[in-house]
Amino acid sequence: MTNKEKLETLRKKLEKNAPNLPLAKTFKDIVPGEGNPEAMLMFIGEAAGYYEHLQRRPFVGAAGKLLTQSLEDIGISREDVWISNILKVRPPENRDPLPEEIKAYKPYLDAEVQIIKPKIIVTLGRYSMTKFFPQTYITKIHGQAHWVDWEGRRLIVFPMYHPAAALRSQKVMELFKADFEILARIINSLNNQSIPGNMENEAEKLQDSEINQQLTFL
Ligand code: URA
Repeated sequence: MTNKEKLETLRKKLEKNAPNLPLAKTFKDIVPGEGNPEAMLMFIGEAAGYYEHLQRRPFVGAAGKLLTQSLEDIGISREDVWISNILKVRPPENRDPLPEEIKAYKPYLDAEVQIIKPKIIVTLGRYSMTKFFPQTYITKIHGQAHWVDWEGRRLIVFPMYHPAAALRSQKVMELFKADFEILARIINSLNNQSIPGNMENEAEKLQDSEINQQLTFL
């Protein structure tokens, strides 16, 4: 099966299971991940908002427009990346996700990562960061690439502020834009080395590169 077919099967499973999942009654409440099934770059947000729920697509509201524009500014189209969320639904009044909700949707997000095998995961906001770094603060680790051993694979996780937070604060907006520029350099660094799929080897090949100077284990 191709990644596209696997992701399609996963989406159908998620939609079929909607009545058993928190905050969902029918498949219409589900906002699946979308993008390039072969993406090297994956973005994980928090949960759907009003427009995402309406259109059943992630990051299509104001925060999504900022994300899409920021990608374009570094020469990447949103169709080239995979975009998903911790919760595949909209919490009432956009409240924060609850632990049991995060747990219920975790298998679907994990399956997306397992299928796509992105080289870099960008976490957007606190909840998404917590998936990989439960013991730290976004103020401390945003804009830094970290090697993570995740379910038997080594990948780079790059935590960023949520674009919605950037829209609320000029200070956060500046940090958000600066982090995107760092991300662009990391992507270029990876691309220039035309690295094959195995991150174990990649870690070694990246020893002397610019990105490895800032890569750390948390
Ligand atoms: N905020 C998120 O975290 N995800 C979306 O899809 C939209 C807004």
